[in-house]
Amino acid sequence: MKVAIIGAGVSGLVSIKCCLDEGLEPVCLEKCSNIGGLWKFSHEEGSYSGSGSVYESTVINTSKEMTCFSDFPAPKHFPPFMPHGDVVKYLQMYAKHFDLLKYIHFNATVLEISRTSNHRETGQWKVSFVNWEGKKIESIFDAVMICNGHLSKPFFPTFNGLDRFEGRKIHSHDYKSYRGFEDKAVLVIGLGNSAADIAVELSRHASQVYLSTHRGAWVISRLEKRGLPWDQHVETRFFQNLPSKIKEWLAVRSAQKRFDHETYGLLPHHGILNAPTVISDDLPLRIATGTIKLQPGVSHFTKNGVVFTDGTRLDNLDAVIACTGYDICFEFLQDKYILPVEDNQVSLYKQVFPPHHPKSTLAVMGLIQSSGAFFPAAELQARWVTRVFKGLARLPSKEFMLHNIGLEKRMLRQIFYASRRLTIQVSSIPYKDQLADLIGCKPDLTRLFFRDPLLAFKCFFGPCCAAQYRLMGPGAWPGAKGVIE
Ligand SMILES: Cc1cc2nc3c(=O)[nH]c(=O)nc-3n(C[C@H](O)[C@H](O)[C@H](O)COP(=O)(O)OP(=O)(O)OC[C@H]3O[C@@H](n4cnc5c(N)ncnc54)[C@H](O)[C@@H]3O)c2cc1C
Repeated sequence: MKVAIIGAGVSGLVSIKCCLDEGLEPVCLEKCSNIGGLWKFSHEEGSYSGSGSVYESTVINTSKEMTCFSDFPAPKHFPPFMPHGDVVKYLQMYAKHFDLLKYIHFNATVLEISRTSNHRETGQWKVSFVNWEGKKIESIFDAVMICNGHLSKPFFPTFNGLDRFEGRKIHSHDYKSYRGFEDKAVLVIGLGNSAADIAVELSRHASQVYLSTHRGAWVISRLEKRGLPWDQHVETRFFQNLPSKIKEWLAVRSAQKRFDHETYGLLPHHGILNAPTVISDDLPLRIATGTIKLQPGVSHFTKNGVVFTDGTRLDNLDAVIACTGYDICFEFLQDKYILPVEDNQVSLYKQVFPPHHPKSTLAVMGLIQSSGAFFPAAELQARWVTRVFKGLARLPSKEFMLHNIGLEKRMLRQIFYASRRLTIQVSSIPYKDQLADLIGCKPDLTRLFFRDPLLAFKCFFGPCCAAQYRLMGPGAWPGAKGVIE
C-alpha cells in the first residue's frame, strides 16, 4: 500500500516511521530542503512563508522526557528544555536511527490532492507536486497522510485603523529576533506562549514593551517544585483522575504561589483548566520591573499610535506584533469538499479522519493543540492511522463518527471558552488514552500491577511519558520499562 505523506515535520517523520512499522510504503513530499518543519530556524525574513516557523530564542515549553517519541528517548546530555536547535537535532537522530530519510523527496511541493476516477471503489488519491527540478508530477496513492502543520497561515484580525498606522506591523510568524526593535516602543497583541516569549525578549532591548490582552491568562513557570519540569508534575494519571474542583484548586494554588495574578493585572475571567496556560518564567518579573506594561484590548490604531478599549492611548508607537494565532488551511485542496473548513474548524473523527469519505484513506495528522507535548500525541495518531490503512483497525460507521464529533465539540465548549484558537484543543492524557485504546496499547494498570507493582505505581503517580504506550499491545517495546523508570 503506497502512502503519500505531505510534510516532513514532527508529524510527517513519525508517520513515515509508523508506515514502515506496519509494512506500508511511505512516500514523503516536503517542500523545504530539510526535515524538522517549524523547528528549523532561519534568519531570513519570509524564508518560511507558507510553513510554520520559530524565532531565534525559541526554547521548547515541554520537557524533553515528556516530548520525545515513545521508543526513542532524547539523549541524556540534552537539556530538559531543548532550544529549537536541539529539537531539530533530536529529529535528525530519530530519522537516522529509523532510516527515514530515504523515503523523503525534498523540495517537492504538493500542489493538489484530488480523487481518482475510481476513488469510490479504491479510495485512491491523485497527488500532484512540483519536484526539485521544477517538474510537475502526478502520482496515484492508496492513502494520504496530511502533515502540513497548522501554524503556517497567520491570522491577523482586522483592527480599526491599522492600515493608517505608519509604524512596523508584523505577525509573530514573521518575528525572528529582537534585532530591529532596539530602543523602539513596541506593542505586542495577544497573550499566548509566543506573545509572552516575544514580549519578554523585547523587554530587554526595546525602549518600552506594551502587552495588550483583553482576557488575561494563567501564567506558570517551566520549573515547578524542586526545579522539576511543570509537565512532570501535572501530566500524571493521578492528577488527571482527581475531581475537577481539586485539580483546579491545586493548579490555581501553584500558579498564585509564584505571583498574584490579580495584583499583576493578569487574572483571567476563565478558570485555569479552561484554556491553555501560558508558560513563561520571566513574564511576571518583566512586568514587575516595568519593562512590560500591560494594556487592555485594542480599540483602534491612529497614524502613530493606538487607543485601547478603556480609552487610554499611546502615541509614538514604533511597531506592532500581532500574536493572534493562525488559520487552518490546506492550500492543496482545491476541492473544498475533501476537507471542509468552517469557522477555523474541521470535522474529524478523533481529530484525524474526515467521516464523509467512502474509504478511510485520508488522514489529517497533528491538527491538535495539546495541553501537553505534541510529539507523543502525533505519534499515537500515526500508529492508529497506519493500522486503519493496513486493515488492522476499523473505523465505526459514518453516523457514529458524526455523532461522536458533535459530542466532542460540545464537550470542548463545556471545558474551554469559545475562541477560534481553541477549536483544536485536546487534553493530553485523555486524548492519548483514547487513541491508545483504538490501537490496543493503552496500559492496563491493573494487569500491570500484578506483573510489576512498582512499574504500575510509576505509571499512575509518575509522569505519563510516551513510553507508557509501548508497554503492551501492538508495537510493545522492551525498552519502555527502562524509560519510565
Ligand atoms: C513557537 C512555537 C513553540 C512551540 N512549542 C512547543 C512545545 O514546547 N512543545 C510541543 O510539543 N510543541 C510545541 N509547538 C508545537 C509544534 O507545532 C509541534 O511541536 C510540531 O512541530 C508540529 O509539527 P507538524 O509536523 O505537525 O507541523 P510543521 O512543523 O509545521 O511541519 C509541516 C511540514 O509540512 C511541510 N509542508 C507544508 N505544506 C506543504 C506542501 N504543500 N507540500 C510539501 N510540504 C509541505 C512544511 O514545509 C513543513 O516542513 C510549538 C510551536 C511553535 C510555533
